[in-house]
Amino acid sequence: MGLVFPGGRRFAFTIMDDTDVATLENVGAVYRLLDELGFRTTKTVWPVGCPEGSRNFSSSETLEDAPYLDFVLGLKSRGFEIAYHGATMESSPRERTERALARFRELFGGPPRVYANHAYNQENLYWGVERLDDPLLRALYGRVEGRPEGFYQGNAPTSPWWWGDLAGQITYMRNLTFSDINVLRINPTMPYRDARRPAVPWWFSASDAEDVSAFNELISPAAQDRLEREGGVCIVATHLGKRFTEAGVVNPETRRLLERLAAKPGWFVPVGELLDWLRSQRPEGATLPPGEWRGMQWRWAWDLVKRKRQVRRR
Ligand SMILES: [Zn+2]
Repeated sequence: MGLVFPGGRRFAFTIMDDTDVATLENVGAVYRLLDELGFRTTKTVWPVGCPEGSRNFSSSETLEDAPYLDFVLGLKSRGFEIAYHGATMESSPRERTERALARFRELFGGPPRVYANHAYNQENLYWGVERLDDPLLRALYGRVEGRPEGFYQGNAPTSPWWWGDLAGQITYMRNLTFSDINVLRINPTMPYRDARRPAVPWWFSASDAEDVSAFNELISPAAQDRLEREGGVCIVATHLGKRFTEAGVVNPETRRLLERLAAKPGWFVPVGELLDWLRSQRPEGATLPPGEWRGMQWRWAWDLVKRKRQVRRR
């Protein structure tokens, strides 16, 4: 790809940690390890609680939990990036989103720079089949996604879930994720603008690792070596709350793999800083080539099918 990263570093690696089921207890040790090894990554948060309860996510902590908030502020002061995963773990009408974004600005001194939708929240932006443009993939995905068309309404101005007009304060939003460690192989021109999804200024792709076993597989020694050889970029979209620790101890294989990676000449900065830099390497006004976008959508669908099969086999 011909990229030379700042300081002569040969590749870039970072993590975007979606905050599902995260608590101080289950992610604290992972962040201590990342900090010690010199990784500066991106942690998403939910600024407000969910008083109505949550079937799948009720164990998660939010910034309304004081010790967890202290922990997150500590991460920020040590150079980790704090990002946004929606207002909270379940759907939020506009009022709650406004309150959450205001709270985020108050706590961190500015709006979130990086965002990703969460699960089946109805205020998600351009979610469900709206992630895709390819007509065939939209038809297929619409059948398996399980939510009726029009369910996600964050970008629908007449909806109670609308916040599309507030999303412009966020710089980067994640859409498609893939199984390859080097996301530039699939989306070499990221971050990109997307005229069909105008509420957010810039878009990016990531490597998907649902939980600790997928993470360990993604960053295997062979994959690390290839990332370095290719001069690539890896942004792992994962959930550090999903079994990365047991009784406060980081999964030993994850520890070994991260130690190995940290010894390489990589650039280990948060998602926002990495995307700013990638943008600075591109000609102003460069657009996402249609062929690249088509390839991304098909690769995403292919990887999704593969992942579902693997989960069934596990
Ligand atoms: Zn989530």
